[in-house]
Amino acid sequence: MKKKRCTFCGRILSENGGHRTEEGQFCSEECRTNYQEAVKRDSRYVKFFMAGILIALVLVLAGACVGDMLLTGEACAFMGVVILVLPFATPETVAMIGYRKSRIVGRIGGLLLIAMGIWIALF
Ligand SMILES: [Zn+2]
Repeated sequence: MKKKRCTFCGRILSENGGHRTEEGQFCSEECRTNYQEAVKRDSRYVKFFMAGILIALVLVLAGACVGDMLLTGEACAFMGVVILVLPFATPETVAMIGYRKSRIVGRIGGLLLIAMGIWIALF
């Protein structure tokens, strides 16, 4: 059976513990408030995130088309920076490991993209 986890901090909830709400299930009232604030904050930045990823993708494709590895690498690193600054996770990831951990995973993914971008640009 799948274990229930707090949507915000990812702590495993006991069978009948936790607060169930429309947004998710939480181990405490504090986590619920924190999550609501985080979602509110995210919804303000999500358009910058989407724009950043879109621009980076176009540049990666453009760089790949003209065979400009420096541009491709830079665009890849740029995408990494966007994800690092605004680590939006998919709802599936949040449901699996919790909001807080999913941001850490997002940041690690961003760092990997930056490293990959530098590697593409240099070699
Ligand atoms: Zn919690």
